[in-house]
Amino acid sequence: MNRLLIGVLSGLVIAATVFGQQPPKKNALVDKIVREVSAKNIKATIEKLVSFGTRNTLSDTLSDTRGIGAARRWIKSEFERYAQASGGRMTVEFFETVAPVSQRIASPTRVVNVVATLGPAIAGPSSDRIIVLSGHYDSMPGSATDAQSDAPGANDDGSGTAIVLELARTMSKHSFDATIVFMAVAGEEQGLLGATAWAEMAKSRNLKVEAVFNNDIVGSTVAGDGTKENRYVRLFSEAFSPLDTGSVFRQRISLGLENDGGSRSLARYIKEIGERYNPKFGVALIYRLDRFLRGGDHRPFHERGFRAVRFSEVKENYDHQHQNIRVENGKEYGDLPKFVDYEYCANVGKINAAAIATLALAPQPPENVGILTSQVGYDTILRWAKNPESDLAGYLVRYRQTNAPLWEKAVFTADTTMTLKIAKDDYLFGIQGVDKEGNAGLYSIPRPVRR
Ligand SMILES: [Zn+2]
Repeated sequence: MNRLLIGVLSGLVIAATVFGQQPPKKNALVDKIVREVSAKNIKATIEKLVSFGTRNTLSDTLSDTRGIGAARRWIKSEFERYAQASGGRMTVEFFETVAPVSQRIASPTRVVNVVATLGPAIAGPSSDRIIVLSGHYDSMPGSATDAQSDAPGANDDGSGTAIVLELARTMSKHSFDATIVFMAVAGEEQGLLGATAWAEMAKSRNLKVEAVFNNDIVGSTVAGDGTKENRYVRLFSEAFSPLDTGSVFRQRISLGLENDGGSRSLARYIKEIGERYNPKFGVALIYRLDRFLRGGDHRPFHERGFRAVRFSEVKENYDHQHQNIRVENGKEYGDLPKFVDYEYCANVGKINAAAIATLALAPQPPENVGILTSQVGYDTILRWAKNPESDLAGYLVRYRQTNAPLWEKAVFTADTTMTLKIAKDDYLFGIQGVDKEGNAGLYSIPRPVRR
C-alpha cells in the first residue's frame, strides 16, 4: 500500500470517529441523489460526446454530426431535457465570448459554454449563493490548433462533462437553498478561455460564487506504466488566493492559517462530506493548484479570489491525452472510450454530488467569526454573528491540532458563542452553520478580536 493511500484511509477512519457525542447525520435527499449517479449514464454520455469526432474549439460549428457546434447543441438539448423535470427552476443558455487571435487561435473564434442554472423553489437568504460544477467539453488531438483530426476526448474531458450532465440530471428534480450552476466549458485547451470569461463575468457582477468544483480527467484508472488505482481521486487546491497579498497574507501566515485558505478549506469540506456519503471511495487532498505542466478551469476562479478546486484521477496515462489516434510499435495512442473506467468516474461523480448537494442545502458560512485574543488565558473563546436562515439549527465548532490536515473535533451549539477548555495556541478552528436536517456548510475561520 502506498503512503498516499494510507493517508487517505486513515482520513476515512478519522472522519468516522471525530464527531463523538454529535454523530454527523446523513441527509436522506443527499443520499438519494448520490445513489442515483449512474455509471451507465456516464458511459452513454461519453460515447455520445466521442461520436462528434472532434470537439476542438476551432472545429466545425455548422454540421449536425461532427465538431464542437453539434456537441454543444446536443449538451444544451440534454440540459433542456433535465430542465423539464425541474418545474421551471432550471434554465439553460449558451454563454459566449469571442476569443482573439493567439498562439492557439488562428482567427477570432466564438467560445461557448453551455450553462444550466438550477435555482431554489423559494427565495431565501441563500438564493444568491452560487455553487459551480464544471467540466470542459472541448477536446484536442496532438495539437490544440488541429481542428480536423479526430479528438475523441473520452477522458479529457468527456469524463468531467459527463459528471456535469449526470449531476444536472439527478439534481434538477430537487430544490436546494442555494443556486447551482452546471457548466460545460469550451476553450479549455486554447488556454482556459471559457472558464476565464465566465469567472470574469462573475467577478465583475459581484456574483456570490461560493465554490467551484472542476472535474477534468476523472475517468481512468490505469497509467502508462501499467500501475492501477481505482480506490480514490485526487483533489487539487492551492493554499491562498494570489489576491491575498501584503498585510492580509502576513496575518494569515502569522496565525498559522496556511492550510485554511478558501480553496483548501473547500477541498477539506469535499473530502469530509464526499467520503461520508461514498465511504468506500477516498479523496486525497493534494496541496497544489494543479499537476506540473498542466492547468485547469478552476484556476481563473481561484485567481479571482473564489474558492475553486480540481478533481483528477490518480493514474494518468499520457498516451491517451492530447494524442492523435494511432498505433506505434504496437502501442495504442488516443483518448478513446475503451480506456475509461465508468464505475470509477461514477464514484468521482458521487463525491461531487454529496458535497454539492450538502453545500446547496446548508447555511452560508457564518460571518464575523472571531477568536478572543485580548489577553493570555487557558480557554478558547469564539463568537460569531447569527446566521439568517430560517431552517438553521445551530453551529458546529470544529478544531484540529495545527499540524493536522483534517478537523479532529466537532462541538454543536445553538448559541453564537462558545468557550472551549483548550489552549487556543495549539489548535486551528472553524465554524459551520447547520440546518435542521443536519446539512453543514463551509467553515468560517476566526480572526483575532479584542472583545
Ligand atoms: Zn482537460
